[in-house]
Amino acid sequence: MPSTRERARRYLALARAVRRARRAPWDPFKLTWILTEACSQRCRSCHLWATTPHPGPDLDTVRAVVRANPQLTWVNLSGGDFVERADAPRLVEAVVDGLPDLALLDFPTAGQDTDAVLAALEPALASEVPRVYVTVSLDGPDEVHDRVRGSAGSASRARATLDALRGIRRPGFTAVAGLTLSAHNLRDDGPPEAVLPPDVPADALHLNLAHRSTHYYRNRDESVPDAERALAVIDAVTARRDRRWSPLELVERRYWALARRYLTNGDVGGRCGALRGSVFLAADLTVYPCSIFDRPLGNLGDVDLALRRLPELAAADGALADVEARACPGCWSPCEAFPTLLVGLGRPL
Ligand code: SF4
Ligand code: SF4
Repeated sequence: MPSTRERARRYLALARAVRRARRAPWDPFKLTWILTEACSQRCRSCHLWATTPHPGPDLDTVRAVVRANPQLTWVNLSGGDFVERADAPRLVEAVVDGLPDLALLDFPTAGQDTDAVLAALEPALASEVPRVYVTVSLDGPDEVHDRVRGSAGSASRARATLDALRGIRRPGFTAVAGLTLSAHNLRDDGPPEAVLPPDVPADALHLNLAHRSTHYYRNRDESVPDAERALAVIDAVTARRDRRWSPLELVERRYWALARRYLTNGDVGGRCGALRGSVFLAADLTVYPCSIFDRPLGNLGDVDLALRRLPELAAADGALADVEARACPGCWSPCEAFPTLLVGLGRPL
C-alpha cells in the first residue's frame, strides 16, 4: 500500500507524462495491453472467441516489455479475460513491481472465477500503485446478461465477484460493474432503463458503448447501440448519481458530454490522443493506435520492445498522420477517450 509521499510522487510522474504527451507524440503515458485473447464467454458484441484467440505473451516477454518501458504511468491490462490465465498473478506482479512510476492500473474482467480475480488483484493491492480500478462486466439483469454473454449463470458469477471486490478496503482501490450498451441488450422492447442491472447503485456502474473493431473485437456494426436508447440510459444513470466534485468526476462528466455528441453525430470532432497519450498493444505485440483503428504500426519486438522507439517503425509516421487527420473509423471508447481528454484538457476539442 503506498505511503502519502509515494502516492504524491507517482501522481506527479503521471502529470509530467501527460504534459509530455500534450507537447509531442510518441511518449504515451497509457498502455492498453491485451494479455490474451482467450476468454470463457461467448459475447454477441465481440467475436474474439469465435476466431483463433491468441494466448498472449508469456511471463518472460511481459517482464521484458515492462523493463523496456519504465516510464509508463498508466496501464490497462485487458483481453480476452487475462485473469483466466493460470499465471495472471505473476503477470500483474511483473507489471506493478517493474514500473516505478505506475500511478494507475486498471483491468476489466468477466468475473467468472472470483478466486482467480482476487488472486490476480492481490499483487496490485499490495503494491505501491496508488490507484487500482477493476471493472466487472455486467450487461444487464441476469437473463439479459446471460443471453448477451452466451453463458448460463454468467451474471450470478459476475455479481459474486463484484460483491467480493466491493468488500475490499484499500485506499485508491475501486471496483465497479461495467455495462456495455449494445444493440444486444438495448433492444426495442421495453424501456431503455430496463437494461440496468438491479441492485447495482448508479455510482458503482460504469457505462460503455459497444464499438466495432476489425482487428480487436472482430465484430460487425450490428453491435453498435441505437443512439436514442443509449442516451436514455446515460440520462437515467446520470440522474441517479451523487454529485461529487473531484478531478476524476470532472473528466468523467466531460466524457459523457462528448459521448452524447458521438451518439448524435457519430463523431466527437477535435484531436484524438492515440499515439500521443495512449497506445494499444495486441496479444502478439503488434502495435495499433487504439482498439478500434485497424492501422498496425508494426511489432514492438522490432524496436526492442521500447514504446519510445515506435517512430522507427516504417508505418509509424503514416499511422500518426491518419490519427491526427481523423482518417480512422472514429470512436468514443473510454480506453482512448480518457487519455484524449487528459491530453486535450483545458484546450477546445
Ligand atoms: S467481450 Fe470480453 S468477455 Fe466477452 S467474449 Fe469478448 S473478451 Fe470475452
Ligand atoms: S478517434 Fe480514431 S484513432 Fe482515435 S481512438 Fe478512436 S478510432 Fe482510434
